[in-house]
Amino acid sequence: MAQYTPMIQQYLEIKRQYTDAFLFFRLGDFYELFFEDAVLASRELEITLTGRGGGAEERIPMCGVPHHAAETYIAELLKKGYKVAICEQVEDPKASKGVVKREVTRMITPGTMIEGKWLHDKENNYLVAIAALSGKAAVAACDLSTGEMYTTSLSTMYAAVEEAMQYRPSELLLCDIAEDELRGKGLPPHMSITCLATNAMSQTAVDELYPEEATQLEDAVRLAMNGLLHYVGTTQKRALTHMRSLQHYVADEFLQMDHFSRRNLELTETIRDKSKKGSLLWLLDKTETAMGGRLLRRWIERPLLNPEEIGNRYDTVEAFRHDLLLRSDVREGLDRVYDLERLAGRISYGNANAKDLVQLRHSLEAIPSVIDLLVNSGEQALQLIASDMDDCGDIAQFLSETLVEDPPVSVREGNLIQDGYDEYLDKLRLASRQGKGWIAQLEKSERELTGIRSLKVGFNKVFGYYIEVSKANLAHIPPGRYERKQTLTNAERYVTPELKEKEALILEAEEKLVELEYQLFTQIRLEVAKHIPRIQNLAERIARIDVLQAFATVSEERSFTRPTLTTDGEVYVKDGRHAVVEAVLNQEKYVANDVTMNQKDRNILLITGPNMAGKSTYMRQMALITVMAQIGCFVPASEARISLVDQIFTRIGAADDLVGGFSTFMVEMLETRNALVKATPRSLILLDEIGRGTSTYDGMALAQAVIEYIHEHIGAKTLFSTHYHELTDLEEKIPGVVNVHARCEERDGKLLFLHKIEEGRADKSYGIHVAELAEMPLEVISRAREILQGLEGKDREAPLEQLSLDLLWGQVPAASQQVFSGQIETTTHQKKRANDASTSKAETKGKTDKTDTVVEGTEVAQAPATSSKNEPLPNPTEVDVLSELRDIDLNQMTPLQALIQLSDWNTRLRKHK
Ligand code: ADP
Repeated sequence: MAQYTPMIQQYLEIKRQYTDAFLFFRLGDFYELFFEDAVLASRELEITLTGRGGGAEERIPMCGVPHHAAETYIAELLKKGYKVAICEQVEDPKASKGVVKREVTRMITPGTMIEGKWLHDKENNYLVAIAALSGKAAVAACDLSTGEMYTTSLSTMYAAVEEAMQYRPSELLLCDIAEDELRGKGLPPHMSITCLATNAMSQTAVDELYPEEATQLEDAVRLAMNGLLHYVGTTQKRALTHMRSLQHYVADEFLQMDHFSRRNLELTETIRDKSKKGSLLWLLDKTETAMGGRLLRRWIERPLLNPEEIGNRYDTVEAFRHDLLLRSDVREGLDRVYDLERLAGRISYGNANAKDLVQLRHSLEAIPSVIDLLVNSGEQALQLIASDMDDCGDIAQFLSETLVEDPPVSVREGNLIQDGYDEYLDKLRLASRQGKGWIAQLEKSERELTGIRSLKVGFNKVFGYYIEVSKANLAHIPPGRYERKQTLTNAERYVTPELKEKEALILEAEEKLVELEYQLFTQIRLEVAKHIPRIQNLAERIARIDVLQAFATVSEERSFTRPTLTTDGEVYVKDGRHAVVEAVLNQEKYVANDVTMNQKDRNILLITGPNMAGKSTYMRQMALITVMAQIGCFVPASEARISLVDQIFTRIGAADDLVGGFSTFMVEMLETRNALVKATPRSLILLDEIGRGTSTYDGMALAQAVIEYIHEHIGAKTLFSTHYHELTDLEEKIPGVVNVHARCEERDGKLLFLHKIEEGRADKSYGIHVAELAEMPLEVISRAREILQGLEGKDREAPLEQLSLDLLWGQVPAASQQVFSGQIETTTHQKKRANDASTSKAETKGKTDKTDTVVEGTEVAQAPATSSKNEPLPNPTEVDVLSELRDIDLNQMTPLQALIQLSDWNTRLRKHK
């Protein structure tokens, strides 16, 4: 250390306390990074790595960003999960002897940002802490930018992680929990995680900030909150006066969905590219304010279970929908309301500038008309949401009397305060104005006096006010009248004693003005800060009005219907639609479908039909309608009777990009297990093609066992899609199971997907037929039929009932696994091809109808029959690859394309050995 210069020593000392953050070290107009920080930052930010001497032999790696552009770079680092410590010069460099004093003035971390590019208007920015104590786990979440604070306690760590992830935190704190303990429990990669040792922090922070609520909290909740507040305290280094009252909730008072289901249903973002566009949130977001946008997201993430509360929301939506004019006036009013919650946050942090306060004023001024509209609407529901609302009119009034209409961004330049607010300020302004008026006159009077028409009076920062005369006119100046001040190429600049005197007056007044205005401004800001709880309450009310009008707006635009909530488990949806699919369908019309379910004899719908026929859309449609109904929105149907659901479980679609490196089949099993373990009779379970990821018998047996289990042990409403036609026989065996199918028709040799869900089982096994439509080589088609016949023969010998779950977990006799492992792949490939097929000269003779297959008997599964030629079955991937190889036109390919093709075959063959 000794070998370094004093400044580098200072750097190293500070850096030692901030090892987990990039240290942005202020040097003049730059923030510099040194040593490892510099190397890493130059890579992450793509900025040039340089070096500087620092006393030691080797140069010190260094890189830097201009301080005025730092925000963009910091946001970039935060996005990658890093933290940044801002180290400022805390004394005037000119005044200091030796090294300028520097201190870290704040830490910027993803979860503690309260302003700037990092934040999105319609998204919260949550910092979430997890703790475990006294046999309980707890989650505490806060958004510093809005002042929200939520807590809940849970019985397992798994549930705590699940709950924490619902907040989509930008940063996670673990109190006395090692990160490793949570690996595999659903923590996403790239999350900024900090482990806190709780013995190193105050255990009373929560009592100080929330004295009333603190006494009621469980140990684990207290710990999580203390961790959170400790972290916020050490990073922000300022008081948290704007934090709102604590909202402690019980997680199962809301409709529960695990993160698989949320993702699968694309509630707030799409699976494919994680964008809002294409999600339910996107469809419903007709909010006008940022608070409304954030509340809508929270509502979608936490649908209600309480029918009364839901009913209240319906009433308001109905009233809004009813009165189009009123709604559009309310929307206009809301449009003028800025982000009250974040403005309140900035005001209490002391970061708000005069423009922010003027925005607050404009927002508050827009509110009385909204309240008036609602109160005078004649609609009880609307009067109710606007009743007893404090419009904070006095704050608006105060701001309009104190701040000018259009203040500058900087609060250090003056021009902030209204005339008439402060006497002394008015005096200074008058002095300055009079001085300036005198100077404005000067040009005219001096021109007259000297006869020099081009004479000018001007001002610059270095020389102050001056009289400028061009060289050509110098002779006209009366002798002794002016003092020379500055010589330019073509002109001379002068002053007079009187001009100097006025200048001193003006400058003094202006200096005092700027200082006084700043002081007055901070007083005004403090005054407003006293009313933050009121502003926050108002923001909450406005957000609610906004979301409910949004529901009405979207319901009107998309012809949604008010649902009725049933209590006997009945579900009836007439002409139901998947609102998001409908919205994105290009010209094509969405085909509406009914859903009828009840607890007595129609609890499990078994949906059959070929790939792409609309099975999974139908299932999602049901789940989305349920979610929409339970957040208080109307639903896409012409009539809807819905029974409230306590949990939704889904197993839909190929969840192939999941964290943790699970295989698709394993994910499928995990999701299904989750449903089987947790579902109740009031839950909704969607299972799409269960068992598809394994071999046919495995899959079929598993699917049947799952259905039986749901019937016998759970009784939850279940939509179950399958391509195993054999399962449709369950309708006769299990009461409550009913077959429906996605109808398709064959017209002119083409398969038409009607997307219509009808009663009964699908009448055909389409696989081979679809392959045929895809112009698969005839040889393959006829061979496939042969194999199918063989298998069907075997089906009769191998009753499904005898295949136990154990069998599915890898204990299938080796022989049968070997022979049948290829079967499922055949199906998948055929389907894939079918999707691509557009034209066909299909030959439809000799189709095999599989639905007649009866599964009977009680014998134990035997090794399946081999093919009629007594040879091992060909591997379907090999068949595919061979046919592709045969058909390929090498002349049409570049060497690179050929190589890619080769690699593709190679991968497929290895995978499906
Ligand atoms: P499956 O689950 O049977 O394979 P999907 O539900 O994935 O089929 O539907 C395939 C495609 O068909 C969807 O992407 C959608 O574009 C379209 N589709 C599904 N249902 C409907 C419908 N009711 N009306 C119009 N198009 C639909």
